Amino acid sequence: MNDAARTGPALWSAQAHMPSVLGRQIVVTRGEGNYVHTTDGRRLFDGTAGLWHANIGHGRAEMAEAAAEQMARLETYHVFGRYLNDRAVELAERVRDLSPVADSKVILNSGGSDAVDVALKLARRYWQLLGRTEKTVILSRDLSYHGLHAYGTSVAGIDVNREGYGTESLVADTARFDTRDIEKVRRTVAGIGPERIAAIVAEPIQGTGGVIPPEPGYLEGLQRIADENDILLVLDEVITGFGRTGHWFATERYGLRPHIIAMAKGISSGYSAVGGAVVAPEVWEPFYESGGPVYRHGTTYSGHATSAAVALKNLEIIEREGLIGRVRELEGVLSAELGSISSDPRIAETRVAGFLGGIELRPEYPAERVADEMLEQGWIARPLRGNVVQVSPPFTTTDDEVRGIVAAAVSALDVVAPVDLAMAR
Ligand code: PMP
Repeated sequence: MNDAARTGPALWSAQAHMPSVLGRQIVVTRGEGNYVHTTDGRRLFDGTAGLWHANIGHGRAEMAEAAAEQMARLETYHVFGRYLNDRAVELAERVRDLSPVADSKVILNSGGSDAVDVALKLARRYWQLLGRTEKTVILSRDLSYHGLHAYGTSVAGIDVNREGYGTESLVADTARFDTRDIEKVRRTVAGIGPERIAAIVAEPIQGTGGVIPPEPGYLEGLQRIADENDILLVLDEVITGFGRTGHWFATERYGLRPHIIAMAKGISSGYSAVGGAVVAPEVWEPFYESGGPVYRHGTTYSGHATSAAVALKNLEIIEREGLIGRVRELEGVLSAELGSISSDPRIAETRVAGFLGGIELRPEYPAERVADEMLEQGWIARPLRGNVVQVSPPFTTTDDEVRGIVAAAVSALDVVAPVDLAMAR
């Protein structure tokens, strides 16, 4: 047995090549606004808001109080059958009222991968219920990320997240379509046959795939394809929901009408594990009719009361502090800063949509090394697929901090010597 492996942490990291991270793991112990502290005494600017979730910043006492108050009264009660708890009811009402889907019903559970399972399983169940039993195929975008539970793994457009489980996908009948060209999407749909397609699932702005904002007209095109072919449009707003694009939902920014929205992260800014789905009347109505079936889904922690109380406090803070308006300003600052470095010959492209930025580097400058160097300088950024450095700090970030992290990316590039491509090959 490898010694470093045996003596290292008992905790098996997520999405990590273990031999590469052992001995260099960063253990975070405390959060304070836009910064986190580590066991080795460093204070780091959280330039990614964790995994795009810490939207109101870290360590807010008001959030801890909301959790403590709720736990002392009722930690949780399940929402199976006839039972509900008041906090879950309240959060669902709040989300329904904020969401751009009129008269929606809201399913609550514990995270983004869960939310995707809820949404896609529901999309399939819906067509079975309507007697359209051939409608089972779920289409997703190339380069998409929808979490790592069974459905998310199966529809993954980042191939490495789908490969190696013994079958092409865990859930049968999935296929991927082009992420930029709507005409290619039309051809994919026609090739499979729209009568076999249950749902199209898409992130409005692709996150993990490399911060890829939609081409003009692309999302509208997906909407049209869905509407014209009796296909449900499922938007994965796990990153974009609750303010990241300067709207409560990206659905509003792009003028869309999804049948189901998957949500998580920003609903609680990570202070509690919450996710879920917003479901349009067309989809929920048949399940509410007297002859309708049970939607057989739910977990012990669906509608967890303390998680919901914390999410409610988070939504209150976003509203009270005008953070969605602030995101619009921050988008402007980030656009200007990234625009000013985009002609740097070491940079292939910069991309911004909402307070969500990506710096795509030329291959000689590996994003992983640039992010490591930024970390040395006190700025957390994250390397993504496609040699991209992700910049998506909390909504409480100052203009100076935006300038600081972009400057850090450039100074990190100065330190990272270009890889000799000939040698690398
Ligand atoms: N969908 C999208 C678009 C995501 O970005 C993520 C997480 N990064 C997920 C789903 C999965 O969420 P979780 O990690 O909370 O399960």
